[in-house]
Amino acid sequence: MKKEKKQIYIDKEALAVLEMLQEGILAPVVSLMDLESGREVMKSGLYKGVSFPSPLLFSPNGKKNQEVILQSKHGDEIDLYYADKKVGNFWVENVFEVDQDERVKKILGGDLGHPEYLRIRQRFGKYAISGNFIVEGNRNIAQNKTKITQKIQDLRAKKICGVMLNANPIHKVHEKILQEALLKHDLLVIFVPHHNNWFLPFSLRLQSLEYVVKHFLPSQKIIIAPLDYTYLLAGQNRMILNALICKNYGCTDFIASLGSSDLSTFVEGDRTCTVMDQIQGVDIDIHLLSEYVYCKICNTIKSTKICPHGKHHHISYDSKNFFEMLKFGLMPPEVFMRKEISSMILTHLFPGRAKKLNKLYSDLVSHEGIVEDKEENFYESLSGLYHVK
Ligand SMILES: [Zn+2]
Repeated sequence: MKKEKKQIYIDKEALAVLEMLQEGILAPVVSLMDLESGREVMKSGLYKGVSFPSPLLFSPNGKKNQEVILQSKHGDEIDLYYADKKVGNFWVENVFEVDQDERVKKILGGDLGHPEYLRIRQRFGKYAISGNFIVEGNRNIAQNKTKITQKIQDLRAKKICGVMLNANPIHKVHEKILQEALLKHDLLVIFVPHHNNWFLPFSLRLQSLEYVVKHFLPSQKIIIAPLDYTYLLAGQNRMILNALICKNYGCTDFIASLGSSDLSTFVEGDRTCTVMDQIQGVDIDIHLLSEYVYCKICNTIKSTKICPHGKHHHISYDSKNFFEMLKFGLMPPEVFMRKEISSMILTHLFPGRAKKLNKLYSDLVSHEGIVEDKEENFYESLSGLYHVK
């Protein structure tokens, strides 16, 4: 009787990580680490001389998965399943025990109060396997690669800049950063992490970014590339991975804002230090933009580096605050967010509300009202009234 093949069940994130490895997006890490290389990365933060924040191991949790792993030996072949569908094969080399706490700590950059701590900790089983594998994922990476390579050829681009943008929601300082990048580079690749657990669903974040790119930026010089979200990108160390991912997609430059909490900045003497200072071996130029704020005296968006006015005159741009306003049904002032973007988000948060308010609106203004097909147009028209004095 034919022996039935062993099966391991993985989730979307694990599949995404395996696909990233397979496609070379995390190079020089192109395969799962074994006990020894994992230990080395844990100790030095380096893999083959290149910064890598944490060991990349395969230790899917769950009673059955862990049983299969424990019973495996060198040379065994295992089927990988995601959502009841076979998505790949795994050829076992070694089975070993891992210190899950150490690993999670490393991924999160030592921050044990991180909101993702428990979720990530639960993902990891006690035993890991190393070995070769092939997987069939969602092919996002292959599609991104094709798009980027094609565009580089079309534009004969030499300087290609990568930026990670959650657009959660997208605001005017984001736009400013994209403009800065476009001024100095031939092509800009905007990576948008595919994550639905944030304030706004991925589709809406993507839609709003596409809108800004199409209407307010030189769209022919921009590629928007969805990036599968994985636990690897949860912690402070994600910036190192972000730079590595950009490099492996063909970017020559990587841009990030010092205003970003991801950089875990601290001040040493008169200079700001970030996690990026320690990065080694990643062949990409890293540009850190100083933080942008709205200055009430200058009456415009300014870099904190060149605005002579004190902090108490500055309003910082924090997507979370703008989202809080929108949740109350308030439109953030246009100096923070474009009215079209606020409209999209309000329509998403309060479906059907514009229809009810339309009567009120037409009562307020004397013209024919704005019975529109698209709800978003209601908010935009209303915001126009705020400017009338
Ligand atoms: Zn100022």
